[in-house]
Formats: sequence, C-alpha cells, structure tokens
Amino acid sequence: MLDREFFLGFIKIHILYHASKESIFGTEIAQELARHGYSISPGTLYPTLHRLEKAGYLKSSSQVVEGKVRKYYLATSAGKRVLEQSKKKIRELVTEVIEER
Ligand SMILES: [Zn+2]
Repeated sequence: MLDREFFLGFIKIHILYHASKESIFGTEIAQELARHGYSISPGTLYPTLHRLEKAGYLKSSSQVVEGKVRKYYLATSAGKRVLEQSKKKIRELVTEVIEER
C-alpha cells in the first residue's frame, strides 16, 4: 500500500535518529515506534534494519544479554550525514505543508 511506503520513510529517519544517539536493538525500536503511533511488524522492521545496514547507514554488533544474542544498531557517519540531510528536508516540508508558508 502506498501509505505504508510513505510511513516507511518516516520510520527509517526515526530509526537513524535514535541510532545516532545510542545503540538500539530491534524490540526497543519497535516499542519506540509504537509510542509514536507506528505499528511495525518484525517482518517489516528487521528487513528495514538490514537494508539500512547494507546501505552503510547502520552498523550492528552482537551482545549476549541474559543468555540471548541481541543485535544492537548504531548509526555510522554516513547514516548521520543522511540524517542531517533528512532534517533539512523535514524542516522545509514542515514550513510548507504544516505552516503553509
Ligand atoms: Zn522517537
């Protein structure tokens, strides 16, 4: 569906934003997105994380937590760069679409 395609862009920016602050793992990201009103299934979230990693925007590292392997994601410098570019575009979009200037 087309609306999903739009929201996926927002979701990717959101993931990059949090991963630029601290390393985050899948369940944490899903909970954060849910807090913002996005319901994202693991079937969408994990391929999205892998794609961002493959593109060089995220770097993952595995840690054992309570006997289970957990994959943490952190934004790379390329990821931070694309986040900065996205911020400019968000600002411009808000000015036009929300503030109607
Ligand atoms: Zn957030």
